[in-house]
Amino acid sequence: MKMKKIKNKNPDLLIVGAGPVGCVIAERAAKAKRWSSLIVEKRNHIAGNCYDEINTKGLRIHKYGPHYMRFKKRRIFNYVSKFTKWIKGNYIVKSSVNGQLYPIPINLNTLEKFFKKKFKNKTQAKKFINTLKIKKRKIKNSEDYILSKLGKEIYENFYKNYTIKQWGIHPRNLNKSVVGRLPIRFNRDPYYVNQKLKVMPKQGYTELFKNMTRDNKIEILFNTSYEQIKKKISPKIATIYTGPPDVFFNFKYGKLDWRSLDFKFKTFKKNKIQECVQINFPNDHRFTRRVEIKHVTKQKSNFSTISYEFPKSKGDPYYPINNKRNVNLFKKYKKLIKKLEKKNIFFEGRLASYRYLNMDEVIEAALNLFKKLKNKYS
Ligand SMILES: Cc1cc2nc3c(=O)[nH]c(=O)nc-3n(C[C@H](O)[C@H](O)[C@H](O)COP(=O)(O)OP(=O)(O)OC[C@H]3O[C@@H](n4cnc5c(N)ncnc54)[C@H](O)[C@@H]3O)c2cc1C
Repeated sequence: MKMKKIKNKNPDLLIVGAGPVGCVIAERAAKAKRWSSLIVEKRNHIAGNCYDEINTKGLRIHKYGPHYMRFKKRRIFNYVSKFTKWIKGNYIVKSSVNGQLYPIPINLNTLEKFFKKKFKNKTQAKKFINTLKIKKRKIKNSEDYILSKLGKEIYENFYKNYTIKQWGIHPRNLNKSVVGRLPIRFNRDPYYVNQKLKVMPKQGYTELFKNMTRDNKIEILFNTSYEQIKKKISPKIATIYTGPPDVFFNFKYGKLDWRSLDFKFKTFKKNKIQECVQINFPNDHRFTRRVEIKHVTKQKSNFSTISYEFPKSKGDPYYPINNKRNVNLFKKYKKLIKKLEKKNIFFEGRLASYRYLNMDEVIEAALNLFKKLKNKYS
């Protein structure tokens, strides 16, 4: 595709990637300092992996997987609220094990249903689970972590095969933080995430990030990669890079591994297809989860769309693979990244920091980076 003409070849900021990080920095730069930004984005749309669109049946779909927005900090929520109205985000997820649906994250209801027991309170449930836990002197990986917290039966039925399918790696070879991200509860909280502030943008994420970047100080060039334009643009202040580090350094130390996904969408002439937004399939099928996003977009329609997620090792970089090889490799790139700050090139975001970060976390990181730029270059 032919590249669009660039209006401003000397913007204050050159921003690589029109995902949440790129949009937040451009917005802050324009509003707080009247700095101009040129955002280059290799895809044909804004919003990065949060992008959503309306399909032929008028239904909003999350093209790169379901995005459940939640905020740890009210300050970040207040900032994002300037660009969207919200609807409630009461995300419910279940896991299908032996043909039965169980609440996820594991909670008291999951334990009662799975072990066919009644627990009067969390103390009683914990006492029971203590009898199943496998003691480990050192928690070295994801397998150790779950065995030591919940025992073998829960590990084998809910975690083991899901992790293998999702990562293509045995939990024994994955850092404990991979499974540790999902809470384990001894109460009856049915919601997928712990945060109280869980909301969905009423008109979707794409609209949110479009609103954020509506300023004549911001120019966005789609279908354009950094590599194509880097020699043509001279930013006056700084470059912000939100892509993968190994690509930036032309794989100098080798390739960082990522897990990717294929999404298959199917629309049915039915109001609702499943009982909650997400059903995980640890032990059956090639896909990991089946998502009916209408449960959280709350659209009214006689149709509904389901997406199926098939993990794969090649393709768009979605999840950094947290094992020794990659952690060590990233450390080497990190040293180069640090040095580039002296040349006014900054890395930020989920790809650039090779970390699994949620939307609120990258938005916070982007706000912090902008503060740093403002202090340094004002
Ligand atoms: C499957 C999946 C599910 C998720 N679910 C949730 C969720 O439920 N809740 C939640 O809070 N978060 C979720 N996330 C995380 C969320 O997507 C990220 O936190 C967020 O998108 C990160 O923003 P970013 O700007 O750092 O990166 P991205 O959104 O990845 O945006 C980076 C952009 O940079 C572009 N780019 C990269 N390299 C170049 C280059 N060389 N030249 C030009 N452009 C380039 C990319 O095309 C991309 O558009 C999920 C992520 C995935 C993959």
